[in-house]
Amino acid sequence: MNLLEHLNPEQLAAVTLPNQPALILAGAGSGKTRVLTTRIAWLIQTGNVSPQGVLAVTFTNKAAREMTTRLAAMMPINTRGMWIGTFHGLCNRLLRAHFRDAGLPQLFQILDTQDQLSAVKRVLAGMNADTDKFPPKQVQYFINDAKEEGQRAKDVPIHDDMSRRYAEFFAAYDEQCQREGVVDFPELLLRSYELLSKNQILREHYQRRFSHILVDEFQDTNRLQYRWLKLLAGSAEAAAQGREPNVVLAVGDDDQSIYAFRGANVGNMADFERDFKVQNVIRLEQNYRSFGNILNTANALISNNTNRLGKNLWTDAGEGEPVRVYEAATDGYEAHWIAEEVKSLVAEGHMRSDIAVLYRSNAQSRVIEHALFSQGIAYRVYGGLRFFERQEVKHALAYLRLLANADDDGAFLRVVNFPTRGIGARSIEQLQDAARAAGCSLSAAVPMLSGKAGASLGNFARLIEGLREQTRELMLPEVIEHMLERSGLMAHYRAEREGADRLENLSELINAGAAFIQEADGVIESGDLAAFLAHAALEAGDNQAAEGKDAVQMMTIHAAKGLEFHAVFVTGIEEGLFPHEQSVMQNDGLEEERRLMYVAITRARTRLYLSFTQQRLLHGQTRYNVPSRFLDELPAELLKWLTPRMQGRGQGAYGASASAQSWGGGYGSSAAAGSGTASSSAAAAASASFGAGKTSERGGGWRIGQSVQHAKFGQGVIVSAEGSGSDARLQINFGRAGMKWLALEYAKLTAV
Ligand code: ATP
Ligand code: MG
Repeated sequence: MNLLEHLNPEQLAAVTLPNQPALILAGAGSGKTRVLTTRIAWLIQTGNVSPQGVLAVTFTNKAAREMTTRLAAMMPINTRGMWIGTFHGLCNRLLRAHFRDAGLPQLFQILDTQDQLSAVKRVLAGMNADTDKFPPKQVQYFINDAKEEGQRAKDVPIHDDMSRRYAEFFAAYDEQCQREGVVDFPELLLRSYELLSKNQILREHYQRRFSHILVDEFQDTNRLQYRWLKLLAGSAEAAAQGREPNVVLAVGDDDQSIYAFRGANVGNMADFERDFKVQNVIRLEQNYRSFGNILNTANALISNNTNRLGKNLWTDAGEGEPVRVYEAATDGYEAHWIAEEVKSLVAEGHMRSDIAVLYRSNAQSRVIEHALFSQGIAYRVYGGLRFFERQEVKHALAYLRLLANADDDGAFLRVVNFPTRGIGARSIEQLQDAARAAGCSLSAAVPMLSGKAGASLGNFARLIEGLREQTRELMLPEVIEHMLERSGLMAHYRAEREGADRLENLSELINAGAAFIQEADGVIESGDLAAFLAHAALEAGDNQAAEGKDAVQMMTIHAAKGLEFHAVFVTGIEEGLFPHEQSVMQNDGLEEERRLMYVAITRARTRLYLSFTQQRLLHGQTRYNVPSRFLDELPAELLKWLTPRMQGRGQGAYGASASAQSWGGGYGSSAAAGSGTASSSAAAAASASFGAGKTSERGGGWRIGQSVQHAKFGQGVIVSAEGSGSDARLQINFGRAGMKWLALEYAKLTAV
């Protein structure tokens, strides 16, 4: 059977396991996903299960698509109707199919994180809550955490006034969502969990249907997801009814658990072993993805974590190339260098899509995009630019949401006066009061108003009603096009000086609608528009550039989980950015960051680049960086420095290569890197800036103008710097104690 041909003995055993619960616990690149996918194919091919009897969960839409594609390549089956997807995607599907039982309108809308926050704000405003005391974001976290624990407002433990208030907000928020026919992300899960647990007929239907349940990236499931899985597995019920229990295969790697901040719970692995009485814990130890140097770099890094289940990973692929390390003067140079390296990789014949640029924070992507773009290198951003989260796209989606569901107050408020049509805040307030008093939605309350407010709001209501009429018979792309024109959005952005991009994005939305119909291939379950809106909310950010075009893959490390590439750039490996400054304070935060770094490194097959910068502009601020501690944790003999190797913090090449590009300001720094190679211009810039004496001194993050404290001289301000390495000296004005030159090496300064 050729399905089984390229499997090692442990993988073969896992693929062909008899029908028992099993856990595969294995490191990166050991073939976990391959085993899971092959097992599905094998089960179907051997007649153990029909394609409809499989439920497979993965972590991202990209991974789900990949799995479906691989399955289709392995055997001639129609994968379209198969239940392969993310938890959110599958729950969405379940709720759409049983909207009535779930207590939802047929065309319920999904709120993304941003929409949810505005919904929370409206609740708080409606309840006259003091938002200093109860920040909307906190309330949002509270609600989401509770839902992820499977709790409703009535289940939340109340121990003081504070928790009582939170529970009240939660209740009011849920009421508002229900009234408006919208659900947030955690609600998708909780609602379908409740649907299945309360409705015995449905539950048994799905329990009988999904005789095989397979979960990839199991280490990142949260509590509610685990309970959802348990419910569908229905072991106890099967036993009571004398059925064979459903077979659950969970696949994961504790070292790659990187979603604790969203409630992921590695403890689910141990619970799974216990709850399902797992006899089979399968370990895969051979890594097939990466060459030895890359793998050993990853192994060395992760060995610094104490909280591990412990695994060995080896490869017989040979050492391969050394891991390349690059220090750049600024983020602009880092980006420019990446573009140059990408060009030579492409010249060597590698696909752009086999090259990934990874970053810790979305905000890092802009400079890199700029550099790739100016070099004419096609790229695609996953999750970053968030097409569906752009202002103009959200406006357009709000109109579509109103077409699908007039009671969607969030959408109503977003566009009632956009483009401006003379509806003032006062009128909207009156409308909100009327709606609150009558316990109905904003659009239902419009006829209750009279006078000027009634007239102007009435016009808006008629506009929406008219659009709904006019588009009833149209195909999705035409609906979108018609809406864009009639709503006045197109005209608005045409008149805007900087509107060209936005117009382009709006046209792109029409394309997205067309592509959506094509992809769905007629299997859309309940109304094009609602399905498309759900897709937009679920995929926010996926599929940036033209599909099918060979493009460099850009994404956060979180989004790269499970993927692999010929060459990988891990950028911005700097203290404060990676590990992220917020994480260092948290319990297990640093270990989670290290796991994230482990995930990043293990994405690379052949070539791995690690880079950091001396200064970077982030969130509008110039930051002077110290290289990440993670770099110190890598075995020196496996690394190849492309720039002079740093001699420890605050000294050597590192202290000397200060740079002045970002004095030019803003992202212009990346444009400034346009001539020569990045490193040579960096060097030039460094000497220039020292000569001019108006730069940042890099030793340990010192910079001109910075306030410092000295044991003997007291407080002072750094005025200038000269020399490098152990010769580096700082000139400091100590005020009363006068101006001093101090050798950096001995000065013992602390920042103020
Ligand atoms: P991650 O932890 O990153 O999700 P994984 O354990 O899921 O990794 P896979 O993505 O399934 O690993 O496999 C890594 C790579 O190794 C893939 O390219 C896969 O095709 C290849 N591979 C897996 N097993 C074998 C094998 N027995 N022979 C050859 N190649 C293999
Ligand atoms: Mg995998």
